[in-house]
Amino acid sequence: MNSKAWIAEVADQILLSESQEEKNAVAQWVVEHFLQQPREQLLRGREVAVDEVTRTAVQAAIDRINRYEPVQYVLGEAWFYGRKFLVNNQVLIPRPETELLVDIVKAHAKPPRHQQIQVVDLCTGSGCIGITLACELPQARVHVTDISHGAIHVAAMNARAHRVALSLKQHDVLTESLDESVDVMVSNPPYVLQREKRAMQKQVLEHEPAQALFVPDEDPLRFYKPLAALAAQRLLPGGLVAVEVNPLMAADIQKQFETVGLREVAIHMDLDGRPRVVCGRHA
Ligand code: GLN
Repeated sequence: MNSKAWIAEVADQILLSESQEEKNAVAQWVVEHFLQQPREQLLRGREVAVDEVTRTAVQAAIDRINRYEPVQYVLGEAWFYGRKFLVNNQVLIPRPETELLVDIVKAHAKPPRHQQIQVVDLCTGSGCIGITLACELPQARVHVTDISHGAIHVAAMNARAHRVALSLKQHDVLTESLDESVDVMVSNPPYVLQREKRAMQKQVLEHEPAQALFVPDEDPLRFYKPLAALAAQRLLPGGLVAVEVNPLMAADIQKQFETVGLREVAIHMDLDGRPRVVCGRHA
């Protein structure tokens, strides 16, 4: 059958209230995934053989998508910083705005040539931040941690898929310190307030791990207080800390970083112009 016609047919089967553009994008991704052929070629319209097994698999995927399961979990993959990561419902789906965190670390970590730097990614989830840094900064020796065993497992599979050697450790940021001093500390911890739930999509609320998303309304800096303390204790002189933040809390997190004695504390905006990353340096 013609690939372009099939993609259009699949898009028509998506019943969600998304825009036509969004439905087309999801249909392209699903067809590309199951046919294992480059999207550009499929979009040009070529004759493809679609056997019964493939047709059934695509139908099953569309049924799950229609039940508000994120397409990334249905296909088991998500894109981040130009690379494909394995994901399942044990980990948050990488968000495009988190790429800013990688950009900032790349721009500010500036390791002297050939010198190794120690990088830790706390609350790593899928491992997308730490693994991307390991790929982008060849001098980085990366350590990733998470409280969830399920997340550590996914991060380990992603490290293997991207052929990076990193250390993985189960670690609770809220109660535990770190054994080693590091040059760079990076984290995208849970930061969504309970009261923000009403504006959130069903896909997120019903399928992504709540433990990775939410903090109590009365304790919005739950993770940033221990992260700031760890940065003050465990960063080497001149070391960099960079964290993703809830735009509502950016100014408070900046203050928290200054209170523990970090310097050059700055807020960076995401592509939508919202405060999204706070970074600072150890004196
Ligand atoms: N940015 C994510 C969201 O809005 C939340 C990420 C996080 O809590 N660290 O769904």
